[in-house]
Amino acid sequence: MNAPVNLLSQDRHRLEDFFASIGEKPFRGRQVLRWIHQRGVTNFADMTDLARDLREKLQDVAEVRTPQVASSEIAADGTRKWLVQLADSNCIETVFIPEADRGTLCVSSQVGCALNCDFCATARQGYNRNLGSDEIIGQLAIATRELDAAPGVRAISNVVLMGMGEPLLNLDNVVPALSLMLDDLAWGLSWRRVTVSTAGIVPGMDELKQRCPVNLAVSLHAPDDALRDRLVPINRKYPIADLLAACRRFVADVPRKRVTFEYVMLDGVNDSPGQAQALASLLADVPSKVNLIPFNGFPGAPYRRSSQQAIDTFREILLQAGIMTVTRRPRGEDIAAACGQLAGQVIDRTQRSARWARVEGNL
Ligand code: SAH
Repeated sequence: MNAPVNLLSQDRHRLEDFFASIGEKPFRGRQVLRWIHQRGVTNFADMTDLARDLREKLQDVAEVRTPQVASSEIAADGTRKWLVQLADSNCIETVFIPEADRGTLCVSSQVGCALNCDFCATARQGYNRNLGSDEIIGQLAIATRELDAAPGVRAISNVVLMGMGEPLLNLDNVVPALSLMLDDLAWGLSWRRVTVSTAGIVPGMDELKQRCPVNLAVSLHAPDDALRDRLVPINRKYPIADLLAACRRFVADVPRKRVTFEYVMLDGVNDSPGQAQALASLLADVPSKVNLIPFNGFPGAPYRRSSQQAIDTFREILLQAGIMTVTRRPRGEDIAAACGQLAGQVIDRTQRSARWARVEGNL
């Protein structure tokens, strides 16, 4: 017998096709979509508006399997982090950030990351594999279940693919998960509340626009190629001019749409007034806003956070140039849940963590 199909990974069209393939009407797919994603029901026996024989048939050929929570932590500021255990015993991390006007879930897209950005803890873990659509959307299911069980905590209103991994190197699994986030029969989020963050995979940006145009954030971090080559090595393949051209294409034809640029503030590296000016000129003709992210440390990190004064001056220069700029407040630092601190437990196929420990004498 074939292995059961995990229906958690299927977006509306795939679910309709699945029901057609077992000789059922496609609208059954829409009913099941609601049970899974709106009511969190994983047991077919509880899907009471399906006929009994269909429920029994589903038990034979399908399943709804979510990843498991291995552990969870709550920071002093209310940020929550879950270590999520996958079927192959890798673990990834998911973070919930409650704010006055929103609740943002930060979701991972890969086990580890292959891009090797110098200032990011995930890079040290090496890379193992892409997450499946079920493992991506499953992070929303887990977080919702956990938040529902915690009285007085606000619900998820926004999702950012800013956890572990590079989402645009996993589009075949990311896109069905995004379409479930947007589908009114599933999570029903407006595209304005769903953001994909990339280190700058140019072809992926064009493909995302075509397949599922949500919000785009780009991890820029440097105003010139020489520095960006060092901080974000994928820049050697897709340099800044190509990256910004792709950003302009991404927002073209969509009124009021902007790209968010993330810029991690590294003391004495990328935080001078001259670099702020250079950044302002670069972004002059890109509909943009800038998030300045004070660097978050991790054991053995080769950088320090910029001073508050350097961050304020940098921001002021961008604002003077007419660029909407906010400084992101670090959240969940005490539980290593802040940007760049997510490590999970990656079975490291790239051996990068071992290489790094040897080179740096660090771990
Ligand atoms: N690979 C994607 C998704 C990860 S998003 C991307 O690069 O955009 C994670 C964000 O946190 C990125 O903007 C990343 O550059 C930033 N970041 C990584 N390490 C950090 C650190 N130590 N301190 C602050 N921000 C960091």
